[in-house]
Amino acid sequence: MKIKRELLDMILAVSKDNHPDEVVALMAGRKGIAEELVFLPFEGGRTSAIIHMDMLPLGMRIIGTFHSHPSPNPYPSSADLQMFSRYGRYHIIVAYPYTMDSWKCFDRNGREVEVEIVE
Ligand SMILES: [Zn+2]
Repeated sequence: MKIKRELLDMILAVSKDNHPDEVVALMAGRKGIAEELVFLPFEGGRTSAIIHMDMLPLGMRIIGTFHSHPSPNPYPSSADLQMFSRYGRYHIIVAYPYTMDSWKCFDRNGREVEVEIVE
Protein backbone atom coordinates (compact mmCIF):
# COMPACT_ATOMS: atom_id res chain seq x y z
CA MET A 1 0.00 0.00 0.00
CA LYS A 2 1.15 3.54 -0.73
CA ILE A 3 0.31 6.75 1.03
CA LYS A 4 1.09 10.38 0.28
CA ARG A 5 3.36 11.92 2.88
CA GLU A 6 0.94 14.85 3.22
CA LEU A 7 -1.88 12.49 4.10
CA LEU A 8 0.21 10.65 6.66
CA ASP A 9 1.18 13.97 8.25
CA MET A 10 -2.50 14.93 8.37
CA ILE A 11 -3.48 11.62 9.94
CA LEU A 12 -0.90 12.07 12.72
CA ALA A 13 -1.96 15.69 13.31
CA VAL A 14 -5.69 14.92 13.38
CA SER A 15 -5.10 12.05 15.80
CA LYS A 16 -3.06 14.25 18.11
CA ASP A 17 -5.59 17.11 17.96
CA ASN A 18 -8.42 14.83 19.01
CA HIS A 19 -6.65 13.02 21.83
CA PRO A 20 -8.01 11.45 24.05
CA ASP A 21 -10.90 10.91 21.63
CA GLU A 22 -10.62 8.40 18.83
CA VAL A 23 -10.76 9.57 15.22
CA VAL A 24 -12.14 7.42 12.41
CA ALA A 25 -12.02 8.25 8.71
CA LEU A 26 -11.89 6.58 5.35
CA MET A 27 -8.79 6.86 3.16
CA ALA A 28 -9.51 7.55 -0.48
CA GLY A 29 -7.34 7.90 -3.52
CA ARG A 30 -6.37 6.72 -6.97
CA LYS A 31 -4.26 3.80 -8.24
CA GLY A 32 -3.87 2.37 -4.77
CA ILE A 33 -2.26 5.52 -3.38
CA ALA A 34 -4.04 6.96 -0.36
CA GLU A 35 -4.36 10.70 -0.96
CA GLU A 36 -7.18 12.04 1.15
CA LEU A 37 -9.37 11.44 4.15
CA VAL A 38 -13.12 11.25 4.01
CA PHE A 39 -14.64 12.14 7.35
CA LEU A 40 -18.07 10.72 7.81
CA PRO A 41 -20.47 10.91 10.68
CA PHE A 42 -20.01 7.90 12.88
CA GLU A 43 -21.55 6.49 15.99
CA GLY A 44 -20.20 4.63 18.90
CA GLY A 45 -17.33 4.60 21.27
CA ARG A 46 -13.69 3.80 20.94
CA THR A 47 -14.16 0.27 19.71
CA SER A 48 -17.44 0.37 17.81
CA ALA A 49 -17.37 3.07 15.18
CA ILE A 50 -20.06 2.67 12.55
CA ILE A 51 -19.40 4.51 9.32
CA HIS A 52 -22.36 5.62 7.28
CA MET A 53 -21.41 4.59 3.75
CA ASP A 54 -24.37 6.40 2.23
CA MET A 55 -22.60 9.66 3.08
CA LEU A 56 -19.73 8.82 0.75
CA PRO A 57 -19.24 11.22 -2.18
CA LEU A 58 -19.95 9.67 -5.57
CA GLY A 59 -16.90 8.50 -7.52
CA MET A 60 -14.67 8.35 -4.47
CA ARG A 61 -12.50 5.27 -4.39
CA ILE A 62 -12.01 3.89 -0.92
CA ILE A 63 -8.63 2.39 -0.15
CA GLY A 64 -9.33 1.64 3.48
CA THR A 65 -9.73 3.18 6.88
CA PHE A 66 -7.71 5.05 9.40
CA HIS A 67 -8.39 5.41 13.08
CA SER A 68 -6.53 6.46 16.18
CA HIS A 69 -6.01 4.69 19.48
CA PRO A 70 -5.62 6.90 22.55
CA SER A 71 -3.41 4.17 24.03
CA PRO A 72 0.09 3.07 22.94
CA ASN A 73 -1.35 -0.15 21.44
CA PRO A 74 -1.33 0.03 17.61
CA TYR A 75 -2.91 -3.40 17.06
CA PRO A 76 -6.52 -3.99 15.94
CA SER A 77 -9.23 -5.05 18.38
CA SER A 78 -11.87 -7.57 17.33
CA ALA A 79 -14.23 -4.66 16.60
CA ASP A 80 -11.51 -3.12 14.44
CA LEU A 81 -11.18 -6.36 12.47
CA GLN A 82 -14.92 -6.31 11.81
CA MET A 83 -14.60 -2.79 10.45
CA PHE A 84 -11.55 -3.77 8.39
CA SER A 85 -13.46 -6.57 6.70
CA ARG A 86 -16.13 -4.12 5.56
CA TYR A 87 -14.30 -1.08 4.21
CA GLY A 88 -11.45 -1.31 1.73
CA ARG A 89 -8.19 -3.24 1.75
CA TYR A 90 -5.79 -1.29 3.96
CA HIS A 91 -6.22 0.00 7.46
CA ILE A 92 -4.00 2.34 9.41
CA ILE A 93 -4.03 2.52 13.19
CA VAL A 94 -2.24 5.42 14.81
CA ALA A 95 -1.51 4.88 18.48
CA TYR A 96 -0.58 7.38 21.16
CA PRO A 97 1.70 9.46 21.04
CA TYR A 98 0.83 9.76 17.33
CA THR A 99 4.34 9.93 15.90
CA MET A 100 5.95 8.39 12.81
CA ASP A 101 6.93 5.46 15.03
CA SER A 102 3.52 4.81 16.57
CA TRP A 103 1.37 3.77 13.61
CA LYS A 104 0.90 0.55 11.69
CA CYS A 105 -0.99 -0.61 8.63
CA PHE A 106 -2.96 -3.84 8.35
CA ASP A 107 -4.81 -5.77 5.70
CA ARG A 108 -8.43 -6.77 6.15
CA ASN A 109 -7.39 -9.87 8.07
CA GLY A 110 -5.35 -7.89 10.55
CA ARG A 111 -1.97 -8.84 9.10
CA GLU A 112 0.56 -6.06 9.19
CA VAL A 113 1.48 -4.68 5.75
CA GLU A 114 4.35 -2.59 4.46
CA VAL A 115 3.57 1.01 3.56
CA GLU A 116 5.48 3.04 1.02
CA ILE A 117 5.39 6.78 1.68
CA VAL A 118 5.30 8.74 -1.59
CA GLU A 119 5.74 12.45 -2.20
ZN1 LIG B 1 -8.99 0.35 17.05
